[in-house]
Amino acid sequence: MAKARIGLYEAKGETLGRTHKSCPKCGPGIFLAEHANRRSCGRCGYSESKAPPPPKAEKPKGRGPKPAAPAPPAAPAAPASS
Ligand SMILES: [Zn+2]
Repeated sequence: MAKARIGLYEAKGETLGRTHKSCPKCGPGIFLAEHANRRSCGRCGYSESKAPPPPKAEKPKGRGPKPAAPAPPAAPAAPASS
């Protein structure tokens, strides 16, 4: 079983091919530091915020009980007569 060659290429668009994005001010070669929600350049101080990942669309798939229909009005209780 031949092992897949990993690392030869990972073309995923123009920016995701490389792990780090280059600084638009300093030019290619100067990469931005990757932070959780932003990138910053250690050379010129440029920083940009990453777009947060889109929240997963939660589609209702009929999971869980449906909201019960309003119960019909109960029959009036007969007056207790003793
Ligand atoms: Zn820079």
